[in-house]
Amino acid sequence: MADNKSVLRPPTEVLTRGFDPSLSVGSARPAVFRSSTYVFSSPEAAERAFDIMAGRATPEPGEQVDLVYSRFNHPNAEILEDQVVPLEAGAHAALVFNSGMAAIMTALFAFLKPGDTVAYTVPIYGGTQKLIENFLAGWGVSGIAMRAGQTEQIDQALRDAKNLRVVLIETPANPTIIMTDIRRAADAAASRGGEKPVVMVDNTMLGPAFQHPLQLGADIVLYSATKYLSGFSDLIGGFALASDRALLAKMRSLRGLFGNILQPDECWMLDGRLPTVGLRMNRQSKNAQRIAEHLAAHPKIKKVLYPSLFDDSEQIRIRAAQCDFPGAMFSLELRGGKKSAFEFLRNLQLARNAVSLGGVETLVCHPKTTTHSGFTEEQFAEARVTDGLVRVSVGIEDWRDLLADFEHALECV
Ligand SMILES: *Cc1c(COP(=O)(O)O)cnc(C)c1O
Repeated sequence: MADNKSVLRPPTEVLTRGFDPSLSVGSARPAVFRSSTYVFSSPEAAERAFDIMAGRATPEPGEQVDLVYSRFNHPNAEILEDQVVPLEAGAHAALVFNSGMAAIMTALFAFLKPGDTVAYTVPIYGGTQKLIENFLAGWGVSGIAMRAGQTEQIDQALRDAKNLRVVLIETPANPTIIMTDIRRAADAAASRGGEKPVVMVDNTMLGPAFQHPLQLGADIVLYSATKYLSGFSDLIGGFALASDRALLAKMRSLRGLFGNILQPDECWMLDGRLPTVGLRMNRQSKNAQRIAEHLAAHPKIKKVLYPSLFDDSEQIRIRAAQCDFPGAMFSLELRGGKKSAFEFLRNLQLARNAVSLGGVETLVCHPKTTTHSGFTEEQFAEARVTDGLVRVSVGIEDWRDLLADFEHALECV
């Protein structure tokens, strides 16, 4: 069995590992275990469980450790973490959180202390940016913003930074779809003398199907599972994954302190979505590519920002080096600024005007006045978030209906 198991591919593994029906009265799919506390099999087992939880002992291979209390761990989190691992190439361990921000926050808190520096790409998710620039700065952590896709400058910043403990990359950047070279950044971080900074990648936009940061030298991959992993815009969750289990051990104990593990019901829902994330993302990417390439020539559109339409040679090189498929996010730069963008949004009949992304339904938003509205004029200019920019997250509808919807809305502009 062990030999056979080692050759299983991810779509098989996600459906066959991490769950023993005999522990759920024979149920073919996992049950939901909503208990907040667990009955110990003996006082000795309780003592052992606490020693392991506190890090005073490590479990023997194959040892069944008693569960303790659901803020630390519970069966639905364990099943979910076991099943998500094969989806992330190179991962050996996972932790689930009650949001993407909870995963990012716990990762940063685990590896940063006052006096340390975190280098991060911009534009980055707004919550992440505020966490670093408004909150961590007050706790004595310095942040170095690095412009996405500027390979040479990022290289230099990572070589020169003092007390660099964490590198956080989000690629492609949102909403401009600019890619940052993960391998180059990981190499630059590794080439510093002394303790190597922890390289983290927020892989929400293209992972786990199309981009594999652990194979490109990253140490920790972070997700908003709210997006593609859950896929139906009906729950909030997050993940951290790593090749090295020890890297996640500190995050696990912080999660127990912070109380930001995902609840059993949401774990169970998310668990049922994992086997289809590859199918959904493939369909979404194909849809997006067809629509983006059709709209690229539309007279009312200045530019479509999408990986298959890159014209910059450095961006094309990065795309080829680290992305299997272009993904399901594109942005449209409309002629006529904010007025055109708003008219476009107002006239869509199938696609919905909402923030968030990654769901089976198509969502469209105006970043400048919503997701990125906290930017200064300088940040807007640097990130190239313009008045006419509209961001699209493509779902699994028939692409021809979506294209017709976009073309009709453009007629009304
Ligand atoms: C949505 C998102 C987050 C935050 O995730 P939540 O689940 O909303 O907390 C972080 N990073 C990226 C790239 C996102 O799209």
